[in-house]
Amino acid sequence: PRTPIVGGNWKCNPAKLADAKALVDAWKEKPFDKEKVEVVIAPTALHLGSVKSSLEAIGMKVASQNVGKNDMGAFTGEWTAGHLQDMEIGYTLIGHSERRSKYGESDEDTAAKVEKCQAAGLKVLFCIGELLEERESGKTDEVNKRQLAAVIPKVTNWDLMVIAYEPVWAIGTGKVATPDQAEETQAAIRNYIKEAVSAEVADKVRIQYGGSVTPENCKELMAKPNIDGFLVGGASLKPTFMDIVAACQ
Ligand code: 13P
Repeated sequence: PRTPIVGGNWKCNPAKLADAKALVDAWKEKPFDKEKVEVVIAPTALHLGSVKSSLEAIGMKVASQNVGKNDMGAFTGEWTAGHLQDMEIGYTLIGHSERRSKYGESDEDTAAKVEKCQAAGLKVLFCIGELLEERESGKTDEVNKRQLAAVIPKVTNWDLMVIAYEPVWAIGTGKVATPDQAEETQAAIRNYIKEAVSAEVADKVRIQYGGSVTPENCKELMAKPNIDGFLVGGASLKPTFMDIVAACQ
């Protein structure tokens, strides 16, 4: 049995540190069972240090939204997997579609980043997913495989990896994948891991669904056998995020 994992990706939000703190205060009112569901929140890098201890006080873990592909040195604006580990930030996202599409992150970049995280013992929410035109032309599984194939050779410890399947057309659009669509694709992802890595890894690796997840639509998605939790954007900026967490425990 895989422990469900719910991520909250705050992206470049909220406007003020005080807003972030107020959100965590609101979450405090709805405790969850951390034996039953793992919750990982990714604030902006600037806010992370200031909200980390209050998130941890309510049983949540913290993540960075990104990590550099290089070691420390002359890389203005970057930080390393080693920095995250030193700051006791146990998780990072890698390969979010916004990094891929808006900042030109390539499959090779994601592979280099995963390699650094493996070396540092850092856990990764590795994001993959197809564009609308790729789904419409029947390329969904091919795209997910390509994005995974880039990083698989870099992974020696699969306990540090979580896969977040986020169809790009569902991100921030209010157009959630249907439970059947998400299940079909995530079953194909798990099957690919089985072929490319092993049956044992395929069985234990957690696959999150992301893209317009809400307290209203999450239960039906969570009922699917290959959906092991969510990566939540917009709905993770609200007090009702805790309803999504509750639906996963
Ligand atoms: P939304 O939940 O806002 O669609 O965003 C999903 C996402 O990109 C999480 O990483």
